[in-house]
Amino acid sequence: TFDTLMIGGGPAGAAAAVYAARKGIRTGVAAERFGGQVLDTMGIENLISVPHTEGPKLAAALEEHVKEYEVDIMNLQRAVTLVPGQPGEEHEVQFESGASLKSRTLVLATGARWREMGVPGEAEYRNRGVAYCPHCDGPLFKGKRVAVIGGGNSGVEAAIDLAGIVGHVTLIEFMDEMRADAVLQKKLRSLPNVEIILGARTTEVNGDGTRVNGLTYEERASGEIRQVELEGVFVQIGLVPNTEWLQDSSIELSERGEIVVDAHGMTSVPGIFAAGDVTTVPYKQIVIAMGEGSKAALGAFDYLIRQ
Ligand code: FAD
Repeated sequence: TFDTLMIGGGPAGAAAAVYAARKGIRTGVAAERFGGQVLDTMGIENLISVPHTEGPKLAAALEEHVKEYEVDIMNLQRAVTLVPGQPGEEHEVQFESGASLKSRTLVLATGARWREMGVPGEAEYRNRGVAYCPHCDGPLFKGKRVAVIGGGNSGVEAAIDLAGIVGHVTLIEFMDEMRADAVLQKKLRSLPNVEIILGARTTEVNGDGTRVNGLTYEERASGEIRQVELEGVFVQIGLVPNTEWLQDSSIELSERGEIVVDAHGMTSVPGIFAAGDVTTVPYKQIVIAMGEGSKAALGAFDYLIRQ
């Protein structure tokens, strides 16, 4: 059994493990894939004090740092059930493998995943023109033409943000109107280098074998197929928190399925903390996940010394 157990080994889980281990408490990390989303990332240029790194390199560095301490790392373990303990008792996590672990406190850090369009070319050109994070990859498209797929708040925010960096933005929305807040829509429409296409279904990301060079969509009303020439496609159709496994637990989730946490990173169940992209904390970024993970571990330690 552990004093604190992290579920998830991305930036949040790794940071929590380092902070917990440095308090000298029995610490474990169980993760489906140690490294998390970072493993799927190429260039990272906004991790403060590290001007440039690459995903796999950062993932290796996270693991190396955690291994400097006495932390039990259990990789390739997918949590399927959480059984919260009574106040003061241990919590239990059951895994797909049949294993189960007990801990006095938990830090849930199972992250999130971008919703994909699922059209030809999207996976092929991921990181080669297809992007999901405007804060991360926007500057790579300086002066170029990009499309933003999705007219919800995140899509319209991304389009406004990108319009200030890139040459031209085409926003493509499936429905006949955008769902974003009116003030964001108004701002978007006021920008000179933005075109908005409504009622359009993206059918393919085109490329030259190396990089994205266009996008194909169907005008839903007419059924006509059209193409846009561009260098980048930002997919903004939702970030899905990895909380399916918590659906039947007593952990409070928001409408979007994110874990609700307080200022110390504690969930609705005493002794169970959460951090990173899986929580309601806004702006899903590596540096934020690391900070939140550290905070949750300190929260867990504080909780333990009061028991
Ligand atoms: P994650 O990184 O998602 O890690 C979640 C962990 O939980 C993983 O170990 C996963 O395997 C595990 N897990 C999930 N479900 C279970 C389960 N049921 N049981 C056990 N383990 C589970 N951010 C930046 O700051 N800069 C960038 O340049 C940048 N570029 C990005 C590029 C791409 C392509 C993507 C996808 C994201 C990018 N991000 C970037 C966002 C950044 O990667 C995330 O904000 C960050 O990784 C969140 O960390 P996390 O630890 O909360 O979650």
